[in-house]
Amino acid sequence: MLKAIYPGSFDPVTFGHLDIMKRSSKIVDRLIVGVLNNNAKMPLFSVAERVKMLKEVSAGFDNIEIVPFDGLLIDFAKKMEAELIIRGLRAITDFEYELQMSQTNHKLGSGVETMFLTTSIEYSYLSSTTVKEIAAFGGDTSQFVPEAVKRELEKKMRAKEAY
Ligand code: ADP
Repeated sequence: MLKAIYPGSFDPVTFGHLDIMKRSSKIVDRLIVGVLNNNAKMPLFSVAERVKMLKEVSAGFDNIEIVPFDGLLIDFAKKMEAELIIRGLRAITDFEYELQMSQTNHKLGSGVETMFLTTSIEYSYLSSTTVKEIAAFGGDTSQFVPEAVKRELEKKMRAKEAY
């Protein structure tokens, strides 16, 4: 059985992430979406909120599981007994960081490979950061994120305004 981890911040999950999830879940037997609990990144959504949204949008897939983690990715991969890490590549700018990370993980974790899926062309420009910027200025995010995520973004922005 081929088990893979697709790690990320998912702050929040976008159609770009969902596309990678859908495509990789067809390749592997089990896909664990690892949600990084990294406060240094100052996320907009808490890890619990990010997990909840991911669970909602992946409810239709029976081989996808959403699991939060902190610490080293390679330790999480070993704990979950995954033999593969999946990452998405959008542009050449992603490449340098991703190459470094995959080589480091290769050194740290014997036997855990990294596999890259190139983005579907329609999502190549899409990032959680852009989506948050659009939402912060009251723009329509429905082209970029599922409806449930759009609602949570609007709620978060209203709460920020009230604060
Ligand atoms: P991280 O903070 O680890 O980069 P992200 O949530 O930004 O986490 O991204 C998680 C993974 O999803 C990364 O491999 C990233 O390259 C990929 N990804 C993000 N957006 C897209 C997209 N629009 N198309 C393809 N892959 C994407």
